[in-house]
Amino acid sequence: MDLGVARLIRDRWLEYGFDSARLVPYDVLLAYPSRDPNRLSGVSLLEADGTVVVESQQQEAGISDPEAEPPFNAYSASGEVQGDLVYVNFARAEDFQTLVRDVGVDPTGKICIARYGKIFRGNKAKLAAQFGCAGLILYSDPEQCVADGWPVWPDGWMMPSTGVQRGNVKDSTWKGDSLTPFYPANEYAYRLDEQDANLSAIPVHPISYGVAREILRNMAGPEAPVEWQGGLDITYHLGPGYTGPASSRTVRLVVNQDREVRTTYNVIGTIRGAVEPDRYVIVGNHHDAWVYGSVDPSSGTAVMLELGRALGKLKAEGWRPRRTLVFGSWGAEEQGLIGSTEFVEDYIRSLQERTVAYLNCDSAAAGNFSIAMWASPILHSLIREAAKKVPDPHEPSKSLYDTWRLKRPEEEGNPDTRPKIGRLGSGTDFTPFFQHAGITALDMWNDIDPAFGFGYPLYHSAYETFDLPDRFIDPDWTVHQSVGRLWGEMAVTLADALVLPLDVRDYAETLQKMMDELRDEHGSRLAAQSIGLEHLESAIANFTRATTTFHQSLGTVDKLNPLAVRAVNDRLMKLEGAFIDPLGLPDRPWYRHVAFAPSSVNSYAGQSFPGLADALFDIDNVNPADLAARWELVRRQLAVTTFTVQSAANTLVNNL
Ligand code: GLU
Ligand code: CA
Ligand code: ZN
Ligand code: ZN
Repeated sequence: MDLGVARLIRDRWLEYGFDSARLVPYDVLLAYPSRDPNRLSGVSLLEADGTVVVESQQQEAGISDPEAEPPFNAYSASGEVQGDLVYVNFARAEDFQTLVRDVGVDPTGKICIARYGKIFRGNKAKLAAQFGCAGLILYSDPEQCVADGWPVWPDGWMMPSTGVQRGNVKDSTWKGDSLTPFYPANEYAYRLDEQDANLSAIPVHPISYGVAREILRNMAGPEAPVEWQGGLDITYHLGPGYTGPASSRTVRLVVNQDREVRTTYNVIGTIRGAVEPDRYVIVGNHHDAWVYGSVDPSSGTAVMLELGRALGKLKAEGWRPRRTLVFGSWGAEEQGLIGSTEFVEDYIRSLQERTVAYLNCDSAAAGNFSIAMWASPILHSLIREAAKKVPDPHEPSKSLYDTWRLKRPEEEGNPDTRPKIGRLGSGTDFTPFFQHAGITALDMWNDIDPAFGFGYPLYHSAYETFDLPDRFIDPDWTVHQSVGRLWGEMAVTLADALVLPLDVRDYAETLQKMMDELRDEHGSRLAAQSIGLEHLESAIANFTRATTTFHQSLGTVDKLNPLAVRAVNDRLMKLEGAFIDPLGLPDRPWYRHVAFAPSSVNSYAGQSFPGLADALFDIDNVNPADLAARWELVRRQLAVTTFTVQSAANTLVNNL
């Protein structure tokens, strides 16, 4: 499958006139659900005598394709557990805290059931194991996948009662292949033992809300808090176990997965730069999918192919970019950003030295509401200017910029502000570029109305077929087109501009905001420990001054002097890398960006000043025996953060 799609993409790029297109394979650990009828995975509700009350299905109703992957959570531990159920809401850190501290329900040794949503499922699995759960069942609650009055699939794009979200449940301290952190999974790679690969310690399996309803009904124990009540027509109880006539029932969770080292194929295509071939502007998307993946990732793959076709056409007419345009089509993203990470690990020296920016688009059209964007601050101005040049897909007389800022303003409730651009966390293939290698990056998609309160409902289910975009999300395909135009506008501008359109002042503005947030959240707590923020404040002030001076100096660069142009461009290109701490973040050294990282409790979310934030996490409730060490970590991380910001400032000023 992977090889077939990879070859197709390579052949298209060659046909479009790319200068090169090749497969780049890696041998990586992948997880597969067993298809052996005696070793299937599933969840069942049992009477005391073993009679099955309800059990999860091996495939979504209506899907008869024998090749369709059954629902599973990749990299779950294999095993069987049977016993009492405890409901843990979204299985976030705060949910477990509420359960244990406030309500006094002990999840230890229990099978926990959590709804999908709010955070990355890998964090749910890790937290469940940390809180002692013997197994974890994940399900899609209607509150997160069906909006009132909206029809479910196949009459609409809401999740029907039989749909199941697949997805990996890795929450290791690195992304990519589980056996080869930091290094490429090539023919001479040193591979860890699986036991050392940081994989889930407990079985985890996903089910539909049809099945979840039956196993959540009649649960014993206290009523779940109001905010924990989901969208099923039952009263949610916390457990453990069942009540009334159901009191002798138990839940059984069985997971059988096989892990194998197999080859995944990336495709790398290039359009060589005419003037600066050793400078790269990279666009990327993954090509692997759970089941059919019409939205995730194919909406993005189709747009990336179309962008390649358009650029190939320009090239045939005589255009060639100033810098090299690189197209990356990644394999095995769904199993943990594997293809992109192995590629970045493999080529890290060249990429760090030569990459201007990495522009990621995974699902181009998960919805038809508005652009959603996350980016390094240095790209903000480029993004805004590009959006001004692209017509809105629904109201072509307006620009994407205007509709985007109305629908998603930077300052909530203020339509006069700029459009909102978020801070990068993780969740898709920009992660190794940005968080590990320190390469400027962005991630974007068109998503569904945030008023729904959830992502697109059929996400990672077998119902994500071509009909979904074609009949519901984007029948005239203009949303896809607008994402392609925006992506292309940004990529071509970065590849062609004489002086790189990167604005360092936006970096300073963001750091200032992050400083304010840090002071608001932790200032008094830090002061009580006699920890002052003045050095960090002054480093950020120095950074701000350096960016202002540097930006002014751009106005006087001799544009006819290639060395002078290259000198300023190199500073711009390398500013992001100055935020990399070679030792990485505490307890997760693969993540090395000192200003931004995925949150340790939700890998999808961006965490600002992550070293400090992690050291301060829930510090008011830390075990007294560990408290002194925690404050030492805070002191150390404050110094690291301050030094890194100051170092970044230094790269912009002239003298040593
Ligand atoms: N995008 C995939 C998901 O959300 C993979 C993310 C990851 O492994 O970090 O399931
Ligand atoms: Ca690796
Ligand atoms: Zn994806
Ligand atoms: Zn996905």
